[in-house]
Amino acid sequence: MKKGLWYSLVLTILCSTFPVLSLWDSNFEQATFSEVATSMACSLVIGIVFFAISSSINKTGFLSAYLIIAFWTFTPIANFSKIPRPWLLAILCVTPVLAALIVRRSKSLLSNSIPALVFFATCLNLPPLVGLIDSAISQPNGSAKDEAGAMTKVEYLSNSRGGPDLYYIILDGYIGNIGARQVLDFDNSAFTGALEERSFFIGEKSRANYPITLLSLTSTLNMNYLDLDELGVSVDSEKLANLHYALQQNAAFTKLKARGYKIVNISSEWAGTAKLENADTTLARRTIGGEFLQALMGQTPVRRFLAQKNLRSHQKRIEFGVEALKDSANIKGPKFVFCHIIAPHPPFVLGETSGASTDNSFTSWIEPKRYIQQTQILNAMILEAIDYLLSAPGEKVIVIQGDHGSAFGLKDGHSDPQPKDMLERFSILNAIYASEECKGKLYSSISPVNNLRVVFSSYFGENLEILEDASFYSWYDRLYDFERVEIPELDP
Ligand SMILES: [Zn+2]
Repeated sequence: MKKGLWYSLVLTILCSTFPVLSLWDSNFEQATFSEVATSMACSLVIGIVFFAISSSINKTGFLSAYLIIAFWTFTPIANFSKIPRPWLLAILCVTPVLAALIVRRSKSLLSNSIPALVFFATCLNLPPLVGLIDSAISQPNGSAKDEAGAMTKVEYLSNSRGGPDLYYIILDGYIGNIGARQVLDFDNSAFTGALEERSFFIGEKSRANYPITLLSLTSTLNMNYLDLDELGVSVDSEKLANLHYALQQNAAFTKLKARGYKIVNISSEWAGTAKLENADTTLARRTIGGEFLQALMGQTPVRRFLAQKNLRSHQKRIEFGVEALKDSANIKGPKFVFCHIIAPHPPFVLGETSGASTDNSFTSWIEPKRYIQQTQILNAMILEAIDYLLSAPGEKVIVIQGDHGSAFGLKDGHSDPQPKDMLERFSILNAIYASEECKGKLYSSISPVNNLRVVFSSYFGENLEILEDASFYSWYDRLYDFERVEIPELDP
């Protein structure tokens, strides 16, 4: 191969690695290595295809680099420039023709500048690479690990004495009856009534402790409020790694493992709970490249074609969760089955979905009626699974809980949230099936931080203090800036 062509190939590779590295850098904690490797392979293949096409037209490597950059930056450019996508696509396709004409006229000049371009592309790759190395080094392990791991100081009993099978089902974004009725004008009492008929206790006044999934689940499974010192983060921190670590090493799993429980995680495919390191068994649906590849391809012009596929894949994800929950009944106990299902949270894929691939109201908190429909269909699926679990032999405890409510009012997490928006976000479903003795200790306003405290005290004779039920508000832009909030009903 000629020297010019080599330069051109190197330029192609550098332009192909950049989008993957920069996405990985900004999602270090969420992406798994195999997802990144698959995505990198995809990006390189796409790059080589562009290289093969363009090197037959123009050997300098300009065209190849241009096509790759245009491909990977399509959505960010469309969002930033507000140019309608078909127009943008036309502009991006016409430009190379003009460029080719110019290249033909001043070929030697451009050929001479290719090494400079290679240098520039190398520099482009450096910041995400440095960021990744920094993230890898500063991951919580060693001393930091101990800090984060000390979330809940509990005494572990090392003897295995058996116990009931525990099922902890998180339905993401599932609002409680009070919030549903007062904010969404949605009466969901038929579902909670059906659970009560099956001897569930319903925490009618239950409120989430935190309004964001990662915060909420970390607190719930550690049976404690989040302490920034123990997490090893500051109030201004944007680091998620310590939070992920505290979720992975949660106190409930550790405690139950010491009692001889088998931990079963039903993968949500969402980074936080897709794979919980301490689980003995993970039931997961296999997809190529996972969420990382989806996010990467979302930057390109093929996004529109993928939208329908993504929705179908989300629907399968929900169905998989419910089916796996039923299957988990057959795993030998004692076991703790943790099942995080990303529903009724959007995208709204259960029920009528015609036109969903182009309509934002299916993928965002825009149209409450889609949420209500999804909730109702999910209810039927969950009830069927619950009946299956209840019919399995052996004693059991089942918790069905929302990590937070819906967010039609709070979708941007604006700085001055209204009481109505807060009630909508913090009011949650909290339903618990347990022995009469255990249910006797439950109360209407019990919040997730106390759910397992009551269960462990009842079944394992442990004397775990019941904490004050409190709610702490923060939003994605300042995740750790917790503000204690009261969430009154609108018309009590
Ligand atoms: Zn959530």
